Amino acid sequence: MKPAAATPTRTVDSVPLLDLRRQNKVVEADLRAAFERVMQSGMFILGPEVDAFEAEVAKVVGAKHALGVSSGTDALLLAFMALGIGPGDEVICPSYTFFATAGCVSRAGATPVFVDVKPCCFNLDPATLEKAITPRTKAIVPVHLFGQCCDMDAILAIAKKHGIRVVEDAAQSLSAHYKGRGAGTVGDFGCYSFFPSKNLGAFGDAGLLTTEDDALAERAKIFRVHGAKPKYYHQWVGGNFRIDALQAALLRVKLPRLQGYTKARRQNVARYRAALLERGLAREARSCRVGAPAPEGDANAPMVFPSVCEPEPIWNQLCLRVPGEGRRDALVAHLRELKVGVEIYYPVPLHEQQCFASVRPAHPLPVSERAAKETLAIPVFPELEEAEIDYVLDALGSFFAKGARPKP
Ligand SMILES: *Cc1c(COP(=O)(O)O)cnc(C)c1O
Repeated sequence: MKPAAATPTRTVDSVPLLDLRRQNKVVEADLRAAFERVMQSGMFILGPEVDAFEAEVAKVVGAKHALGVSSGTDALLLAFMALGIGPGDEVICPSYTFFATAGCVSRAGATPVFVDVKPCCFNLDPATLEKAITPRTKAIVPVHLFGQCCDMDAILAIAKKHGIRVVEDAAQSLSAHYKGRGAGTVGDFGCYSFFPSKNLGAFGDAGLLTTEDDALAERAKIFRVHGAKPKYYHQWVGGNFRIDALQAALLRVKLPRLQGYTKARRQNVARYRAALLERGLAREARSCRVGAPAPEGDANAPMVFPSVCEPEPIWNQLCLRVPGEGRRDALVAHLRELKVGVEIYYPVPLHEQQCFASVRPAHPLPVSERAAKETLAIPVFPELEEAEIDYVLDALGSFFAKGARPKP
């Protein structure tokens, strides 16, 4: 292991999964000024601050229309409402994702149809789509999980063939790119979240909906304000899906720094990757990408590093896979004992959630079930210090040195 390039500023004896205070401290004066500006304006819902934020974020994402909304969840619900998806309709989504992806399908009155993901990058497996499509299928929701884009060419080709809409859940992938286009701008709608743990985090709940389609943008705008146009004249039953002016103003402070945050996340991932492979603690997953080089690392390594199947992920999370019955949970306990912040995204695949007990998946979902048992997220946030990464690496190493290595 090479020595750390930077001198640590403290003796590391714990590492949080995420520490937003470090990020906010750097822009504290600008945040205070933004708060002051909104307070003095007396305008707290939509308005000029939101207009400015929408124009700026549309540019970053590369979207024609961007609507600030109340959360990533509401972006999804709004998209389904604007597309007229409701009772009797089916919407295909992966089982291994955050609950909101499928929860919003149900809230729109439709039925989620769960399909499986790929073991290498945890994204929706296009090969599972065709057999899940029925005459009732109205949309597919690819989730760009952990900051990496789905195989959109394959998904769009199937959607086009069957006349099905595509709503991208880009909650974890704002500013990632797919073949030169912004994540979320490839399908009919893109849904993003500014939940504080996302790469661009608000100071509370906030989200974004984007589209390239003028008519869909107009519909979404109307549904965002209770389906009213003009005010108090309701063509449809919409909801209150508006973003606060305060959130928009604060997000405008951080938005110009997003690229820098991403760069730091990528550097952190590169440091983890090099060390884990070098120490024989992880091997790379075999990529699903056609013509991908052979995976790197010792084939007997106890952990699996996610593969980059679409270039340049923005690494909202770095989730390692720990095969072996109960081994992931033992490692989580070990890391927590050493005060390393870890989280399991996600411990229960959606088709096994109690609330979806009556929803039958389109086919068996072994990869989602396995991912739920074997993955864990380690700290990767931009402001991590190198000494903290080394602390996490040592903590991972000490677990497997204790003889927990799988038998070859
Ligand atoms: C965070 C997230 C959402 C929901 O966003 P909120 O802003 O928390 O409502 C939806 N889908 C995915 C994949 C997410 O990670």
